[in-house]
Amino acid sequence: MVEKTPAQKALVKLGLTRDIDLALHLPLRYEDETRITPIRNAREGDMVQIEATVTACEVQLRPRRMLKVVVDDGTGSCELTFFSFYPSHQKAMAVGARLRVRGEVKGGFWGRQMLHPAFRKAEGELPAALTPVYPTVAQLPQAYLRRAVASALARVELPETLPPELQPPVARFDRENGLQGTWSLRESLLFLHHPTPDVALATLQDHSHPAWQRLKAEELLAQQLSQLTAKRERARLRAPELRPAHAAGALALHEQLLARLPFSLTLAQRRVGAEIAQDMARSVPMHRLLQGDVGSGKTVVAALAATVCMDAGWQCALMAPTEILAEQHFAKLIGWLEPLLAARGQQVAWLVGGQKKKQRNAMLEHIASGAAALVVGTHAVIQEQVRFKNLALAVIDEQHRFGVAQRLALRQKLEHDGMEPHLLMMSATPIPRTLAMSYYADLDVSTIDELPPGRTPIVTKLIADSRKHEVMERIGAQVAAGRQVYWVCPLIEESEALDLSNATATHVELSEALPGVSVGLLHSRMPTAEKKAVMEEFKAGRMGVLVSTTVIEVGVDVPNASLMVIEHAERFGLSQLHQLRGRVGRGAAASACVLLYSTGDSGRLGETAKGRLKAMAETTDGFEIARRDLEIRGPGEFLGARQSGDALLRFADLATDTALLDWARATAPQLLDGHPLLAEQHIQRWLGGKSDYLKA
Ligand code: ADP
Ligand code: MG
Repeated sequence: MVEKTPAQKALVKLGLTRDIDLALHLPLRYEDETRITPIRNAREGDMVQIEATVTACEVQLRPRRMLKVVVDDGTGSCELTFFSFYPSHQKAMAVGARLRVRGEVKGGFWGRQMLHPAFRKAEGELPAALTPVYPTVAQLPQAYLRRAVASALARVELPETLPPELQPPVARFDRENGLQGTWSLRESLLFLHHPTPDVALATLQDHSHPAWQRLKAEELLAQQLSQLTAKRERARLRAPELRPAHAAGALALHEQLLARLPFSLTLAQRRVGAEIAQDMARSVPMHRLLQGDVGSGKTVVAALAATVCMDAGWQCALMAPTEILAEQHFAKLIGWLEPLLAARGQQVAWLVGGQKKKQRNAMLEHIASGAAALVVGTHAVIQEQVRFKNLALAVIDEQHRFGVAQRLALRQKLEHDGMEPHLLMMSATPIPRTLAMSYYADLDVSTIDELPPGRTPIVTKLIADSRKHEVMERIGAQVAAGRQVYWVCPLIEESEALDLSNATATHVELSEALPGVSVGLLHSRMPTAEKKAVMEEFKAGRMGVLVSTTVIEVGVDVPNASLMVIEHAERFGLSQLHQLRGRVGRGAAASACVLLYSTGDSGRLGETAKGRLKAMAETTDGFEIARRDLEIRGPGEFLGARQSGDALLRFADLATDTALLDWARATAPQLLDGHPLLAEQHIQRWLGGKSDYLKA
């Protein structure tokens, strides 16, 4: 095999392997080389191309070494300055040479100048179209990429995948004849790579040009098609039908659980519970996301689903992204279920990473034999050695923190007699409507939109960290009044060591500032037993202040905790801040969240940090937070690992392209049903081999 050049390797790395990939690699911006501006007409700040003859070319040494070239076109002259140059520059720009020079004009005291302009010999005709500038990387020169794209464009076949009756709502306006049909994909691509100079550049810049609209419509359609295909594929799979048992005499498990709960379910909990029950009763695997704000009571809904599953004689698995979260999130649930299961001779199995071999083997046996009806843990649950007897329901908490590969592994794991288990994913980060309609189109969503009664609203305050000592004093008063406080230290530059020293220092500082108060510390390097001990102290109310790093994620449910302090809040993501804040306000006491921010050396907060903190101060509504988060960050972060599938929209913008999204949603089923081959062709064109990722 021939060794690839660095440029070829870079093409592969950018995913530009097929002709269609190159054709869909669209310019970032354009350079106008189509016209020549007389020097006399070039004004300060203009980006122009001039054609002129060199009248002087010399190397100057003061104030530093540079090449000074003067060109003249008969209407005026312009001085070109190069701080870095090679002998070849001097040769090409020797006196008498005729050049085309392109750059930004500076009109200094000494006349017109350009700094490091692009130049070439003045020969050949001027191009008729704007010159594309493509996004690229260092190993891939612009000129090489331009040639690669141009030859791909010339070769590629772009058959229309949209029949006439399913064209997107992108009209073409013809100056002479008015509205005239639509832009085809071929036309749109050719135009966007080489637009004519009369185009309004702003419409290319903001993607509002009809050619862009056409492309975005196609892209959104590809995404909808692949989601719809995934959904239909799943609908062909079989899953065990799980219906609530109605035991004669004894109460069914779910009835026993309901009887044990110290509260009654909210209306929202009943509604989503019914939606889930309906799914599980079907012979098609459930693929449902349960979303609800922090503290909205998702766990008990999951517990009820688990009882139905176990009552029907099947196994249920519960997973959280970390060991500590698994313990915290499921502690109550296990507390409720364990006695009920024990009464029927069944048990709960734990599977986590750092387990002792002996213990782990025992667990694996219980899982394989079916003695463990409920399996709780982390990713360890989906490891290869784990064999279930008959898994029928998997619940994933904080689903966005599980990778695509892990979700795929899970589905495969669950195979049982050609069946797949039901899948219930839970998330406290609600998916904004547009995302639910696009990336998550193959997912059924249940939403808990109501908090259990008796919660008090949380007051959020933004305080500059120069006033940290005041906050510390306030903590003293809170603790004296019998309250408990969380103090969260941020992750610094992803360095666990620094992260730790920071938390340790804060711990010392707080301990000194609050004599007589028990201040605990929790961080990721602590042995599990020690972590547990600290948690226990805090839960039992014997510890007034808990200092922790986010690696740990304060996920405990301590209703008495009523103050949350987050240090360097400007470094956190919005949904992370919201999650952390949700740890207080769980009891009847008035709660507060203090966001300490630092402006660093610049003395100013960045725009996005400001936006996040403002959103936190203005609302406690998880949906509103999610909507603003989408606005601030774009969809990437919401999708978590899904972005590694490269399935993110490249061109369409969900915030502005809602009309196109609606069109794509309506069109996908029509194309798939009416023209399955075209649909397949369309998916291949846009997603190539990547569509698998969307199915996880
Ligand atoms: P999340 O949705 O964040 O996972 P949890 O399931 O942990 O929320 O519930 C938060 C707290 O609210 C828990 O202490 C739980 O026992 C309690 N809770 C759940 N449902 C209700 C309800 N209907 N009434 C009162 N308290 C409830
Ligand atoms: Mg939870």
